[in-house]
Amino acid sequence: MRRCLVAGNWKMHMTVAETESFIVRFLPLVGAPNAEVVLFPPFTSLDCAGRLLRETNVGLGAQDVYFESKGAYTGAVSPGMLVACGCRYVLVGHSERRHVFGDGNDVVRRKLDAAVVGGLDPILCVGETIAERRGGQTNTVLETQLEAGLGGLSEAALARVVIAYEPVWAIGTGETATPEQAQEASAWIREWVGRRHGRAAEKVRILYGGSVKLDNARSLLALPDVDGSLVGGASLDPDGFAAIAAAAEA
Ligand code: PEP
Repeated sequence: MRRCLVAGNWKMHMTVAETESFIVRFLPLVGAPNAEVVLFPPFTSLDCAGRLLRETNVGLGAQDVYFESKGAYTGAVSPGMLVACGCRYVLVGHSERRHVFGDGNDVVRRKLDAAVVGGLDPILCVGETIAERRGGQTNTVLETQLEAGLGGLSEAALARVVIAYEPVWAIGTGETATPEQAQEASAWIREWVGRRHGRAAEKVRILYGGSVKLDNARSLLALPDVDGSLVGGASLDPDGFAAIAAAAEA
């Protein structure tokens, strides 16, 4: 049985004060969810969020990590620093990291490995651009990203990984994949895991991300191969995000 995971990626939003107000409002709304609910604030809010979320039903994750543990890497944040703030999860390979900051598949893999070694559970984000989809390249792109991110990973490490299918054309655009598109890609990803990693395919959680809102969350979360969602813009409102978490339980 795969437990549904609803993740809220705040991107570059929320000061420390705004983080505190969000969490104070959100916790009573979300109650004791059946689904796993995790917030991904910006680095500057992690410490505050970690303190407020300690011993609650809501988890904490970071939006990115560097693959070195310490040293002269200006602006970078290590896995150990994130764990010390109370993070369990970290996103790796989010499309904004890949396309805005130039994280290539090799860097994504180094981050994923460092996350696992450093005690974090990575959420590996994969997805095609609109040109790749129109060109019939979706599965090829997914395969390349999955092979680079997870190929040869040990069984123990893979057990820590969550995969997020996030079509680039659906992120922050208001255009959501149809349930058929989300199911087709998620099923394909699970088949890939089965081909490369055998029975891990039954256990690995696959999230859908890309303009998830309350009105489309229910149909996406009901899909057989979708085990949760990675929510960007709609996670910035505590009432709306709590409602999406409740939809996940239904
Ligand atoms: C995301 O940040 O991963 C995302 C899917 O954003 P949005 O929900 O705003 O499309």
